[in-house]
Amino acid sequence: MLKEIQIQEAIQNLQASQVPFRENLSLASLSSFKIGGTAPLVVEPGEDEQIYSCLAILQKLDLPFKILGGGSNLLISDHPDDFVVLRLAGSYKSYEMLEPGIFRIGAATNTTPTFRQISQKGYKGVEFLSTIPGWTGGAVMQNAGCYGGELLDFTSKIEFIRNGEIHSKKPSEIEYGYRFTEFLQKKDSIILRVEMKLDEGNLEEIEESLKDKRDKRNSSQPENKKSAGSMFKNPRLNDEQGKPIKAWELIDRVGLRGAIKGGAQISPEHCNFIVNLGSATALDVHYLASLVQEKVHKETGILLNREVEYFGSIP
Ligand SMILES: Cc1cc2nc3c(=O)[nH]c(=O)nc-3n(C[C@H](O)[C@H](O)[C@H](O)COP(=O)(O)OP(=O)(O)OC[C@H]3O[C@@H](n4cnc5c(N)ncnc54)[C@H](O)[C@@H]3O)c2cc1C
Repeated sequence: MLKEIQIQEAIQNLQASQVPFRENLSLASLSSFKIGGTAPLVVEPGEDEQIYSCLAILQKLDLPFKILGGGSNLLISDHPDDFVVLRLAGSYKSYEMLEPGIFRIGAATNTTPTFRQISQKGYKGVEFLSTIPGWTGGAVMQNAGCYGGELLDFTSKIEFIRNGEIHSKKPSEIEYGYRFTEFLQKKDSIILRVEMKLDEGNLEEIEESLKDKRDKRNSSQPENKKSAGSMFKNPRLNDEQGKPIKAWELIDRVGLRGAIKGGAQISPEHCNFIVNLGSATALDVHYLASLVQEKVHKETGILLNREVEYFGSIP
């Protein structure tokens, strides 16, 4: 747990540097699971200079921090009180078209409306991103994707802070793959913005593609449920017929569809989702996730890796 004296010192420094922050904030409201305890300090830098100030303050006071985006791929601890939360705000919440087809998109932009709007301006290819919850920075971190598309395939430049300096790299200059980037592995960078170079398309076809992806999403996922999407990555293995094995099939096969612990349930509609029925704790979800891993491993020999990340200590 952070000491009160450290928090007060950080607050004085943040005020002096005019970096916005909030104290004692419930993180449940900032997560798609609607799970998470109260964070003692959430810092919300709105521009690059404020991030520099913030990092200098946290380093000087030896305060650990974690970055929270849209909170849609996280299981947040019931007691997130041993670190400071850094959450981008201000200028990172907007995007602009620099010239026709070239977009600069802030890391704190909400993915769904941003990519719907960009698509509806007549630029094609990124319609799939309009169905993924969360923020653009979080989507970069794990190369978010669906329906055959992945964010980094459409990205020409990523701007991030690493070792106190702003870097700008093309995707070809970083390591990335399926639901993976070096940023996620190393946890040593803050994504600030991306640039995308998109081709113009036929507006009617783009609208059709937006609708098609939205319909697919609505028909395959539990609607209006509190979750963090797929709990486990698909294992990247084929069955005897050469068909890719899906995580949900394994969970179904071992009989865990609909299993309940406390306020959490393995979704009866899509069993790779764990849903919060209303009063779930992080521990409830963790219990079910561990049960899935144990049973699937014992009965099929396959080890499922979590796609949802833990934010703070859970067990
Ligand atoms: C209903 C539902 C459906 C989903 N469907 C999909 C899908 O089809 N495809 C898919 O890929 N994902 C899917 N997801 C998961 C999630 O939406 C994506 O992974 C999303 O891109 C995460 O973004 P976020 O801003 O919410 O990140 P968060 O959950 O806030 O954070 C995820 C990770 O990124 C880090 N992070 C966030 N922002 C930054 C930053 N600016 N700089 C450095 N680190 C940062 C965090 O520290 C954390 O490690 C789904 C989730 C839900 C709830």
